[in-house]
Amino acid sequence: MATTAKTEIAFTSLSHPAPTSVEQREQVLTNPGFGTNFTDHMVSIEWTEGRGWHDATIGPRGPIALDPAASVLHYAQEIFEGLKAYKHGDGSIALFRPEANARRFNQSAERLAMPELPEALFVESIRQIVAADRDWIPSAEGASLYLRPFMIATEAFLGVRPAKQYKYLVIASPAGNYFKSGAPAVSIWVSDYTRAAPGGTGAAKCGGNYAASLVPQAEAIERGHDQVVFLDAAEHKWIEELGGMNLYFVFADGTLVTPALTGTILPGITRDSILALARDEGLTVREDRYSLEQWQADAQSGKLVETFACGTAAVVTPVGKVSGREVEFTIGSGGPGQLTQKLKNRLVSIQRGEAPDPHGWVMKI
Ligand SMILES: *Cc1c(COP(=O)(O)O)cnc(C)c1O
Repeated sequence: MATTAKTEIAFTSLSHPAPTSVEQREQVLTNPGFGTNFTDHMVSIEWTEGRGWHDATIGPRGPIALDPAASVLHYAQEIFEGLKAYKHGDGSIALFRPEANARRFNQSAERLAMPELPEALFVESIRQIVAADRDWIPSAEGASLYLRPFMIATEAFLGVRPAKQYKYLVIASPAGNYFKSGAPAVSIWVSDYTRAAPGGTGAAKCGGNYAASLVPQAEAIERGHDQVVFLDAAEHKWIEELGGMNLYFVFADGTLVTPALTGTILPGITRDSILALARDEGLTVREDRYSLEQWQADAQSGKLVETFACGTAAVVTPVGKVSGREVEFTIGSGGPGQLTQKLKNRLVSIQRGEAPDPHGWVMKI
């Protein structure tokens, strides 16, 4: 089990003048939904060129003041992360691989010309908000406290260059089980839009990628599908990922394939965890490219039996149907597959402290 590292920056704790009442909080926690309810606190840390990170606070959540010329509002220097805190059966609180989020946050920062945040400070910021809002962690099965660390460029300057001032914040939102009883299979639409091009920002977790995915996602919904899947920008042939989830293909011979991280795919921590768990199970997993054409042929011949998407928010989601301008096919019986369910259960039971943690992924706080 990992332990929390010390940081050089001390957090100033600002007391909350009017925290949510117990009744109101309990009301929210009975049906938290996703991303609509927020806790009482937030973390805030400032960065200034020449000075580095300073003024770390944990205090009441509320609006932040920004100059209308703040660079983030014009040139979209923004990156974020998403992770969850779980309440275990023994009442303890656990995070899942927060150092992996810290590392990826810095990779995103580098691509967006933003300052790096020491990994220990990132993890400490998560510890601070979870400790302040520990009563906001739902205990229902599949529920968690969703944590959203992010960084924005705050310098008031309209010239085009990296900003000299940034703000790092963490907010928290109680989250219910994404799918009440076992995930139903989703139907996905193959987009003609592209999410990421070689040399672009596809591997960075930045708001700009999401802004560009909203029209394709809305188009998928309009056509009666749940999610959008993107193909590569150069050949429009190779499967990349969904708007916010990575993909796995499961074959009848027990092998798994996930698109390789070539720079246009977001390196998901759930993806990486599934990779390790599948190998623990003795399965053959390849990181490779896989074409839409092959996907359809393999689904139709029965060579491919399952497909699932994975990410922190929904964990593992089976894909039942695929449609596009030139394709339309069902995967397996169109419902959740066996291996999908098995890998999901393996991952979730580690996250919830109900199974051994051989990889040291769970950090108790
Ligand atoms: C965050 C994200 C994922 C999933 O990453 P996890 O670390 O597993 O949550 C996949 N694709 C995109 C585009 C993402 O932004």
